[in-house]
Amino acid sequence: MFKKILVANRGEIALRIQRACRELGIKAVMVYSEADRDAKYVKLADEAVCIGPAASSASYLNMPALISAAEVTDAEAIHPGYGFLSENADFAERVEQSGFQFIGPTAESIRLMGDKVSAKQAMIRAGVPCVPGSDGELSDDPVVIRRTARTVGYPVIIKAAGGGGGRGMRVVHTEAALINAVQMTKAEAGAAFGNPAVYMEKFLQNPRHIEIQVLADKFKNAVYLGERDCSMQRRHQKVIEEAPAPGIPRKLIEKIGERCAAACKKMGYRGAGTFEFLYENGEFYFIEMNTRVQVEHPVTELVTGIDIVKTQILVAAGEKLPFTQRQIQIKGHAIECRVNAEDPFKFTPSPGRIAMWHPPGGPGVRVDSHIYTNYFVPPNYDSMVGKIIAYGDTREQALARMRTALLETVLEGIQSNIPLHRELMVDTHFMTGGTNIHYLEEWLVQRKKLSA
Ligand code: ADP
Repeated sequence: MFKKILVANRGEIALRIQRACRELGIKAVMVYSEADRDAKYVKLADEAVCIGPAASSASYLNMPALISAAEVTDAEAIHPGYGFLSENADFAERVEQSGFQFIGPTAESIRLMGDKVSAKQAMIRAGVPCVPGSDGELSDDPVVIRRTARTVGYPVIIKAAGGGGGRGMRVVHTEAALINAVQMTKAEAGAAFGNPAVYMEKFLQNPRHIEIQVLADKFKNAVYLGERDCSMQRRHQKVIEEAPAPGIPRKLIEKIGERCAAACKKMGYRGAGTFEFLYENGEFYFIEMNTRVQVEHPVTELVTGIDIVKTQILVAAGEKLPFTQRQIQIKGHAIECRVNAEDPFKFTPSPGRIAMWHPPGGPGVRVDSHIYTNYFVPPNYDSMVGKIIAYGDTREQALARMRTALLETVLEGIQSNIPLHRELMVDTHFMTGGTNIHYLEEWLVQRKKLSA
């Protein structure tokens, strides 16, 4: 096992990885930008290294600074967390070329999944169902584009091969608008992602976002840890996640889960990963794979009892997966609310000094957050400052515990979306379960109308 790991991230996930290291008896080297000097995990660290100024480009995205921090502290491995360099194949390659273990899949796997066209083709080869669409990259020939759209059926969505974060997509409803839409998406993709390649998919009207968590080791053992429902989104950003997904038959989950685990074996995938699907009328359609730990991993940890971050470290160190598929049991229900430093109505970021933070507690409540009273939320990074996760034997109990937890939570000095979560936890449709990916946006429009 490793003696020392460098954590190449910040915020709640840096603290989460530090906790996993402590449990494993591994020393964690924490890195920080000048804006994160006062972070809790930096103060609690075995060792901490400043890697540059506040701007991410000069610190958390600064590969030479991160690698030299690992060199000077004699770390053996680097955990990239999520965001920043976690899905950067060049970084994974440079980490390994410098003699460190990258806690994640190989650079080849990251590269394959980072290009959505190659990812989709790999999934088709592995027998994972995908959204019907163009056969790989879309041709430049207007005749071929029109023919493809007719075969797929309108509405279609044009997506950038290099896209991410909900950007680089355009929905087309009619043939008249098609060619122009393709050209515009190509131009934008070239400018934003340095890759003008686009592909076409059928635009699904009312799907749910369902994802499968996988874990794999270097010996071609791979398992799936059930699913998460992340349909409660605003601007393609997840707001609430839960496991299991309400109302989806276990048989269907098992079938798609087995496909995902088999695809991992086939690709020689190692580490943690997530297969994201759109789910409509009882069918799953693959949209992308994330080759890292996800923000919403705690809901899966609570219903399986498996520590995903610890397992990432174990398999990176060359150990075998410590469990088989048969030993993985889904028990109870977990819901996660992402706590963002933002206006709960306008969603503008609200960084600044926290005057009071009193996190909730009690049976079945988990809080993953690095903030504390008097902590300053820097304006330079993502607005998420933590996650409140509630577990129960049933979904109803998890919801009840979440309501209590949100009632107990005190966060003052900055604005947060906690009032929004309080409202959503008593919303009849959310309480019934199974809302689609448009539900939250429509709910927000209704709320605005009612308050006007
Ligand atoms: P990104 O990497 O930018 O997050 P995804 O491919 O994961 O892109 O898609 C993001 C979101 O866009 C999905 O969660 C869904 O809301 C919407 N979307 C993508 N593809 C389709 C599709 N074929 N039909 C309907 N909605 C889609």
